[in-house]
Amino acid sequence: MDAPRPELLSLNTATVREKWNLAQMIEGCARHGIRGISLWRDKLDELGAAEAAHMIRAHGLTVTGLCRGGMFPATDQAGREASIRDNLKAIDDAATIGARCLVLVVGGLPAGSKDIAGARAQVRDGIAAILPAACAAKVPLAIEPLHPMYAADRACVNTLRQALDLCAVLGDGVGVAVDVYHVWWDPELEDQIARAGREKRLLAYHICDWLVPTTDLLLDRGMMGDGVIDLPRIRGWVEGAGYAGSHEVEIFSAGNWWKRDPDEVLEVIIQRYASCT
Ligand code: ZN
Repeated sequence: MDAPRPELLSLNTATVREKWNLAQMIEGCARHGIRGISLWRDKLDELGAAEAAHMIRAHGLTVTGLCRGGMFPATDQAGREASIRDNLKAIDDAATIGARCLVLVVGGLPAGSKDIAGARAQVRDGIAAILPAACAAKVPLAIEPLHPMYAADRACVNTLRQALDLCAVLGDGVGVAVDVYHVWWDPELEDQIARAGREKRLLAYHICDWLVPTTDLLLDRGMMGDGVIDLPRIRGWVEGAGYAGSHEVEIFSAGNWWKRDPDEVLEVIIQRYASCT
């Protein structure tokens, strides 16, 4: 298999979130020759979407995604409406910075609820409610299935099949973000990636590694090459399905990578992207 193309490498800024602000992240990507960047909204709000858009354009970077919208389920109507408003703001910001998609972490169970089917229905209805605005703004919505360990508190969409079934119900303007951390274990992964390609739903590809043992289920993601995910194989499936977009490195790592000098982290990312993915 061919090596991954350097111009497709993108930095998901969560990877360096502890030490850099957004301006430093943008300058850091440019300095290291990383051509893509994916932003989180907390950092975007600090700088402001218009200023961020200006800086990103000045450095010639591609915005491969904005993280995140979603979190639709709520205990009452007021909560659901607040979520819709927040998602509409995210769509506006994604359009301002020229993001290729808005990543949706759809949300889990409302507080006190044990009704996961109900939560999933709320997710469907929430995405349907924001989809017209997303289409008008030309911001595709990327549903990111999360590992089932997050079903209660972060995302009740947990497999690629489930996300694609949801896309089929919702229609145009929505697709999927394939994050290897969440889906690498799935026996259907190859088939569902191929299906995502056929159905033109592949919007984003996120990479990192699954460490053994994993000491924190949220904040102990590994650098590519340090864990058990067969990244070249999955890239082959994704590219074989027709995906030609960026490969976003997204590493939540409170105990290791977040503590390091971000310039060192970016150097390691570039090396590992070339040799391990
Ligand atoms: Zn991700």
